[in-house]
Amino acid sequence: MKEPHLLGSYLRTLKLPTMLAQWQEVSRQCVDSDLSYGEFLERLAAREVNARETKAIDRRLRQAGFPAPKDLDGFDFAAVPTLNKKRVLDLARCEFLAKRENIVLVGPPGVGKSHVATACGREACRRGFRVKFFTAAGLVNTYLEAREQRQILRLEAQIGRCDLVVLDELGYIPLDKTGAEHLFGFFSRCYERTSLIITTNLPFAEWPQVFAGDERLAGALIDRLTHRIHMLEIQGDSYRLQSSLRSRRATGGSDKLSAT
Ligand code: ADP
Ligand code: MG
Repeated sequence: MKEPHLLGSYLRTLKLPTMLAQWQEVSRQCVDSDLSYGEFLERLAAREVNARETKAIDRRLRQAGFPAPKDLDGFDFAAVPTLNKKRVLDLARCEFLAKRENIVLVGPPGVGKSHVATACGREACRRGFRVKFFTAAGLVNTYLEAREQRQILRLEAQIGRCDLVVLDELGYIPLDKTGAEHLFGFFSRCYERTSLIITTNLPFAEWPQVFAGDERLAGALIDRLTHRIHMLEIQGDSYRLQSSLRSRRATGGSDKLSAT
């Protein structure tokens, strides 16, 4: 059988690199299995589509800027019986994004809030959504920098293009008035447009202290946020602490942890 001369250059012109790289292999498979031309083309096109999807997912995961690649596969639900596994798995299917709903994960340090928030965010990337991860302090800094460079509009446009923003560690660091106002601006920007997953150690009643003691600002903010919300409360001891105790026991060490 004659080899095609121009196929490579056509596939390059059409920007189909996977088809270019794999047509010979797929062609051999199809000859061996006695498949039709139509099936050959379908298999080859599927390879291109799959490669593009994988690349797009990698790009979205990269752009989201998650600090660690945590997924629900690696989450031990048995360690946090107060967290409803089915509910988390349901939420990870990302239907809340289409409805512009928000998730708030509240609980003490080390119980897996950031892990669950990151895992849901990564799942959203896999499902084709645009996601961005910020710590609350990082977001406020990003706003302050943007303001200095007169780029607030650009930053807000960037945020507006996201389907989901994961806002980690709200309430860990109290904000000054400017920081609180920026965060309020951010929440207003996201309201009914961009979903949020927020992790916090503070119940809503204590939010005013994050927002420079401004009850009205905190109230307005909670109002916007809780309009469409899924609350996940995680109680229990720090997983970090427990697992480090477990490994110490396993190695015959003492249960006491030195302060770090
Ligand atoms: P938080 O945000 O609530 O302070 P993290 O999500 O940062 O806690 O969890 C602390 C560390 O413990 C992380 O490395 C996280 O992956 C791990 N971790 C916490 N809970 C679990 C769990 N139930 N199963 C597996 N790993 C967990
Ligand atoms: Mg955390």
